[in-house]
Formats: sequence, C-alpha cells, structure tokens
Amino acid sequence: MTDPSPQPTAGTSRRSVAIIGGGFTGLTAARRLALTGHDVTVYEAGSEVGGLAASTEIAGIHLEKAYHFVYKTDEHTFALLDELGIRDQLEFHLNSSCTVIDNVVYPMSTPLDLLKFSPLKFHNRVRAGVSALYLQFVKDWDKLTEITAIDWLNKYAGKEVTSVVWEPLLRGKFDQYYDQVTMAWLWGRFKQRADSRSKGEAYERLGYLNDGFDSITDALVRDIEASGGSLRLNTRIDRIVEVNGRPHVSIAESSEAHDAVLMTVPSHVAGKLIETARDDAPDYFDQLEAVDYLDAAILLFVTDKPISSYYWHNMNNPDAAFVAFLGLSALVGTENTGGKYVYYAGDYIPPEHEYMSMTEDELRDRWFAELRKVWPLFSPDDVIDSKVYRFRNAQHVVDIGFEEKLADHQTPMPGVFLANFSQIFPMDRGTNYAIRDGEKLAAQIASSF
Ligand SMILES: Cc1cc2nc3c(=O)[nH]c(=O)nc-3n(C[C@H](O)[C@H](O)[C@H](O)COP(=O)(O)OP(=O)(O)OC[C@H]3O[C@@H](n4cnc5c(N)ncnc54)[C@H](O)[C@@H]3O)c2cc1C
Repeated sequence: MTDPSPQPTAGTSRRSVAIIGGGFTGLTAARRLALTGHDVTVYEAGSEVGGLAASTEIAGIHLEKAYHFVYKTDEHTFALLDELGIRDQLEFHLNSSCTVIDNVVYPMSTPLDLLKFSPLKFHNRVRAGVSALYLQFVKDWDKLTEITAIDWLNKYAGKEVTSVVWEPLLRGKFDQYYDQVTMAWLWGRFKQRADSRSKGEAYERLGYLNDGFDSITDALVRDIEASGGSLRLNTRIDRIVEVNGRPHVSIAESSEAHDAVLMTVPSHVAGKLIETARDDAPDYFDQLEAVDYLDAAILLFVTDKPISSYYWHNMNNPDAAFVAFLGLSALVGTENTGGKYVYYAGDYIPPEHEYMSMTEDELRDRWFAELRKVWPLFSPDDVIDSKVYRFRNAQHVVDIGFEEKLADHQTPMPGVFLANFSQIFPMDRGTNYAIRDGEKLAAQIASSF
C-alpha cells in the first residue's frame, strides 16, 4: 500500500483538477494528481468506476464485465501494481488459442499448430507463418500506415490465408469498416503478441490478477480518497465552458470551477463538451469528429461443467454470431472460482446493431445456440448464472489516415486536456496504455500550473 502524502510538490500550490471519466485513464491521473497534493474530483457518468474494464459479481465471483488480461510487455501496469502493493496478485499463464471454422475447433497456440491447420493448403500454412514472422521484424511501422490490413495480408500472406484466417477476425473486430483498417494497427497487435512470447517458448503467456482487475480500481480509489480526492458517481458532465480564464464543468443546472480539466471520454463526446471553443480551432474538432467508434456486446456466464479446453477461440464460422469466445478457466484454472468455469462471448458492432437493443434473453438464446453448433454437449442448463453487457464506444476504428485524426492532449480550451484511447497509435487500446497516459497527463497538467 502506498503512503499518500497530499502535499503539493515543492514549488507548486494546491490546484483544483476535474477528471471526467472514472476508467483506468481517469483514475490513474486522479491518483497521481491527488498524491502530489492537488485537489481532485473525478466525475463519472456511470454508477461505478472502471469504465470498459469495470468489474461485476456473478455466481459469487468477482470478474471483469468484459474479458481482460495483461501482456508480458505491460510495463506501465507492472509499475502501477508495484506502487499499489498488489503486484503479487498478477500471475502469468500459458495461453491456449484455437480457431473455429465450420464448427470445427483447430488448435492455434504454436507454430506447429499452424503447420497442421488443415483449412489451409500446406504451402499457405507456411506462408501464413512466414508473413507473421516477417511482421515481427518490421521496425518502421509508419510505412504501414498507407496500406490497409486486408491489402497487405492479401499481398504478403496470400488470398487463402486472408479469407480463411484474417478477414473473419477483421470483420468481427471492425464490422463494416473491416477493409479500411490500417496495417499499422495490425502490426501493433502482432508486435504486442510476439513480445508476449518468452524466448524459446512456443506458447504465449498472458497475465491475470488473482482477485480480478477491480483490485486495481479499488486500490486507485483508496489512494485518491486517502489523499483528499473525491469521486462523484452517476454524474455525467454536459459541458465545459471557460469563465474568466478558468474551466467550469456543468452538471445539469449547476457549474463548478476548476484550474484544469482532464477529459477521458470518447473523442466525439469530448467535442460536444468543449463545443464553445470550436470557433477557436475548427480543425481540432474535425479531428475529434472524424474518429468512428464501435460498440461491444458481451455475454458473461458461469457453468459447472467445462465447455472447451482453450482460453481464446477465434470464431471464424461464416456469419458467426460473435467474434471471440473466451474460457477464462482454461487460462487461470478454477481455484479462485470455487471450481466453476467462467466464459465470455463478445462482439463489436455499430451503434445501431440489433445486439444493442435486443433483450438479454434474445441475445443469450442466440449466442448459446451458436455455441451448441460447435460444442453440442454444452447445454444452457449447465449455466449457473449469466449477464449481458453492452458498452458504447468500445473500440475506435483505426482506418487509413488515422494519424491525421490524432488530437493533441491540450485542447483549444485553456486548462482543458484530453486523453482517450483513440490517441494511442499504432498500438491497440488497453489498460496498460490507459495507465501510461493517465500518468503522462497528470504530469502535463501539474506542469501547466
Ligand atoms: C471487450 C473488451 C475487451 C478488452 N480487453 C482488454 C484486455 O484484455 N486487456 C487490456 O489491457 N485492455 C482491454 N480492453 C481495453 C481496456 O478496457 C481499455 O483500453 C481501457 O479500459 C480504457 O480506459 P479509459 O479510462 O481510457 O476509458 P473508459 O474505460 O472508456 O473510461 C471512460 C469513462 O468515462 C465515462 N464518461 C463518458 N462520458 C462521460 C461524461 N460526459 N461525464 C462523466 N463521465 C463520462 C465513462 O462512463 C467511462 O467510465 C478491452 C476492452 C473491451 C471493450
């Protein structure tokens, strides 16, 4: 546990900072600013902290609402866990992956699995491996910003590999935008996964916190509050306006003055919040509004019997109901879940998609039916409990020209800053980068006083 010392750093005076959004970025920034002696208020629209990485309780188990794990390269997460005194909760486990095609499960954890992957002709299995290996040695990723992932894959991995392996995944992750995604983003994903493999080990290792990700948010909140900071849940900020050179945040009819504001909300939401600054820098607003987002639907359920022995299942069935199926218990075991098995199914969809409006029962029935096509022995009667979650703005669309959409952290409104996951490029969004940017913005804000 940290020993919070809410004294302003030498040479600075105590300032008032508003953090909009209580996800990993907002809480990390809030903690750092509170620990350095500033007066911090976190405004969170939802009824709990954690944002996309928020936790829940199901069948008596603390779990993330959406599947979350830690990469071996998540150095900012490690540093934070050390500071919070909870690094010992993080354990790395061998990842087992597979790809499901036409309801058949094909192992896909090691290079040998790829060589045995019968949906591809043998020479294309080799080509798939060589193209993936080649990407791991690419350093100047900026050359990849000009080509779409689909075009690059068709050219280097070949048409069969692309249509069987990659296109279903890109469609699942980016829906209608699948053929616009830049190769630079896919390179970032490859790099992250390749770096997560230890030298000489065929398998990748993924990390998980024994008590779940809410042990991080709990510890962040504890430090924020112990340093005099406050958290205002169920408080959606509607507007930020500048009055006499100070940003004021508005909630319904009331307005509160601060010395600085950090927005950790999606780009288009940020644009609406600081709308009154539009005329000062219309280009900045164009950047914010050019970022498209997809939503996510997640089915979390707990069973008393195992369904599959793999953690990560790429669902490459034609017209699959969801893109990913995850068996957390295959990764971490069942010791911490009282012998019960934890599963997630997830899909990324546009905001108007039926998954965002259908009833929980409808979604559950449809997705359980999809699972039964692959695992006929699975019965919904084995499910002890299940929950459906829908997240707005869960993934930004990293399309060609995305680097032009990267907005500065300093917004055109004095004292108002922005840090959201669309500003992480070319790497994919993740809690590690949320922590990195939370720390970075805390330092930037503190040095702006
Ligand atoms: C399905 C899924 C799986 C994932 N898996 C992983 C994984 O395995 N590993 C990993 O590291 N990362 C994973 N991520 C990504 C990770 O969850 C995010 O990168 C990270 O949580 C982003 O944190 P954030 O604070 O930047 O944003 P968010 O979590 O989106 O937080 C923003 C907060 O702002 C609040 N807010 C919005 N508007 C307002 C307003 N007007 N007023 C007040 N509050 C507002 C929101 O309610 C939210 O709580 C996954 C994400 C998803 C969706």
